[in-house]
Amino acid sequence: MEIKKICCDLQENIVRWRRHFHRYPETGAEVPETAGFLAHALTEAGLIVNHNMGGHGLTALLEGVQPGPCLAIRSDMDALNLEEETSLPFASEIPGRMHACGHDAHMAIALGAASALSQIRKQLKGSVKFIFQPAEESFGGAQKMIEAGALEQPKVDAITGLHVGGIWEGFRPGTVGYRFGPMFASRDHVEITITGKGGHGAMPHQGIDTITTACQAVCTAQSIISQEISPQEPAVLTFGIIQGGTYYNIIAEKTYLEGTVRTLGEKTRNFLAERIPQVFEDVTRSRRADIYTRYTYSYPVLVNDPGFTEFFSHTAKNLLGSENVIQIEEPTMGSEDMAYFLKEVPGTFFFLSTRNPEKGIIYPHHNPRFDVDEDVLWIGSALLAQTAWSWLENNREGR
Ligand SMILES: [Zn+2]
Ligand SMILES: [Zn+2]
Repeated sequence: MEIKKICCDLQENIVRWRRHFHRYPETGAEVPETAGFLAHALTEAGLIVNHNMGGHGLTALLEGVQPGPCLAIRSDMDALNLEEETSLPFASEIPGRMHACGHDAHMAIALGAASALSQIRKQLKGSVKFIFQPAEESFGGAQKMIEAGALEQPKVDAITGLHVGGIWEGFRPGTVGYRFGPMFASRDHVEITITGKGGHGAMPHQGIDTITTACQAVCTAQSIISQEISPQEPAVLTFGIIQGGTYYNIIAEKTYLEGTVRTLGEKTRNFLAERIPQVFEDVTRSRRADIYTRYTYSYPVLVNDPGFTEFFSHTAKNLLGSENVIQIEEPTMGSEDMAYFLKEVPGTFFFLSTRNPEKGIIYPHHNPRFDVDEDVLWIGSALLAQTAWSWLENNREGR
């Protein structure tokens, strides 16, 4: 049975589903309508749906007629708090919300894979569990689902999933990108409040100026990246917020800073979690100011399993031709909470390029004009379904 052909025939449905999700976006953990739509479509395709997996998350099990292991296919569900500016006929009907990261396409692609596999269920040797998770953009969707048991009953033995868009540039639409090892960075969060002593701007010696202190501390903290970490090891420290002061000639008593920290390895990640607050404290104390720091660990590094990725790349090349399947050279310093699933279960997260300059689909993720080239969505479904099918076929022994 030709999975590619089945998915190609499903293209019209996949586009219809994508447009539905696009029209009615929901954000964060609150995705009840999206979950309802998915549950209905999955039940119709003959899957057993399990609701309320960590809030509005859901799993859907497709049991093959023959016994075997279980592979999971994961899709995120949430949109962004953003006003759409695409003027597409199926643009968001909910003010201030938009699917601008392609999660609408992920859901439609996963539904396509579910429909395709349900058509060949009688030959399926094991089961495929579809995991639909909320709150990828905000925080905690994947973690909550794992805690709620999404990877149990049956136990998930391997996992796959994808991200569409233009994360990696220069890929033709419909091209698949994969990577061994780290592919997305860890994402941690630092919040700092420096408290000094206000006073007249003409007499700084009578006060304790938190703006000068903050500037000095930011520069010193940046030098951790250049001086204390191997130049071979990627790391990013970005302060996106610095707020202090009330008037141009008043010494700022308080300054607040907030930043993000990205790495591609746990060792560097832990080192920065210790050193950044330390440097801020040292600089602040040397200026006789007080400091409050909060450092929060968020998404871990997303790491693809070498063995599974080897299998995945062969499967993808057989299905799509090796010219359409490219090994990604550089990981992105963006983050992805699929990382939590891949920490528990071996698997591969891959990239499907849906950027198409010829059609004017050029805007980056999280842009109000973001769009995807719908013509290639069926390729995502075919690759997910083929990966599941072939992996179950290869791993049915030894259970
Ligand atoms: Zn996003
Ligand atoms: Zn995304």
